[in-house]
Amino acid sequence: MAPQREWLEKDYYAVLGVSDSADQKEITRAYRKLARANHPDANAGDPAAEERFKEISAAYDVVGDPERRKEYDEVRRLGPVGGMFGPGRGSGGFGPGGFTFTSDDGAGMGDLGDLLGGLFGRGRRSGGGPAPGTGPQRGADLETELHLSFADAAAGLTTALHLTSEATCSTCHGSGAAPGSSPVVCPRCAGRGVLDDNQGLFSFSSPCPQCGGRGMVVEDPCPTCRATGVERRPREVKVRIPPGVTDGSRIRLKGRGGPGRNGGPPGDLYVVCRVEPHELFGIEGRNLTITVPVTFAEAALGADIAVPTLEGGAVTVRIPPGTRSGRTFRVKGRGVATPKGTGDLLVTVEVAAPARLSAAERKAVEALAAAAEESPRAHLGVPT
Ligand SMILES: [Zn+2]
Ligand SMILES: [Zn+2]
Repeated sequence: MAPQREWLEKDYYAVLGVSDSADQKEITRAYRKLARANHPDANAGDPAAEERFKEISAAYDVVGDPERRKEYDEVRRLGPVGGMFGPGRGSGGFGPGGFTFTSDDGAGMGDLGDLLGGLFGRGRRSGGGPAPGTGPQRGADLETELHLSFADAAAGLTTALHLTSEATCSTCHGSGAAPGSSPVVCPRCAGRGVLDDNQGLFSFSSPCPQCGGRGMVVEDPCPTCRATGVERRPREVKVRIPPGVTDGSRIRLKGRGGPGRNGGPPGDLYVVCRVEPHELFGIEGRNLTITVPVTFAEAALGADIAVPTLEGGAVTVRIPPGTRSGRTFRVKGRGVATPKGTGDLLVTVEVAAPARLSAAERKAVEALAAAAEESPRAHLGVPT
């Protein structure tokens, strides 16, 4: 919704509980009191309070600023010209076609209104909906990559992202007007954002070409953003990476994306983690994994083997006699420490056949083969 439409529809004085003749001090006092009572910090998880807080803030944004308040009063004084906003007037959006269909004459709409009600749906006939494409628009969701070492991904960290993207203009704070000036009510559409083309009983409205449907025009454009209210600039965003993220994990930073237009909320920023693989360790949820080669003798006879840990140092894992290749041993508490608990280190042993044997080794292995009493493939039922 263009600000002016919102201004016409919303009584900011009523929202703040003051009269429209209240002075700035009174308005500020009323705002502070309401803001304190409805502040999200004091009303955790109460969506109604959050909504009220937003309304109060939006109202004070306008009537708390003497200049904007003057504009607001002016827009409301000029009022609902052309019947778009008056109560009881029928109007129906024509959907994405770009036109708003309005009745010029509420009184004459009875029969025809019934007829059209079936056509367009009665729900659409109340209130003056915004012309398509002119309302507040949520900012774009942005995505950026963050490259992490395996150890940082496992442990988690807080870091700063540096990105260049569209952001609310730092010179005009999004108004599009040069410092010291403000946008003024569009002279062509008187702040309505739409123009009417009267054709007898009906008027067809189309977005005002002079203000692009915003209802306001900038006479003295901001030199930084050329009146768009948005500039591309480098910015720094702090991000907390929780422990245990893996390659491809997406972290959402609410409201840190592109800036909204016409008073819309900003989009979100998604941080996609790119985690460098570790040469020894893997990660599965909270657990770290490692594969450790053991000799046939260690697997057959049992052994205590030293296994490295991610944080440095080693732990000893006891392999019982007769351990088969591929068996996994769990070392408690040596995985990823997350707020929900610490994972384990999963050690998988793999019986390694030496690529080369010394003469003494060959002799010993041949002796072992000769002494073997039973084939491990006996159960296959074929001659060995
Ligand atoms: Zn600017
Ligand atoms: Zn206009």
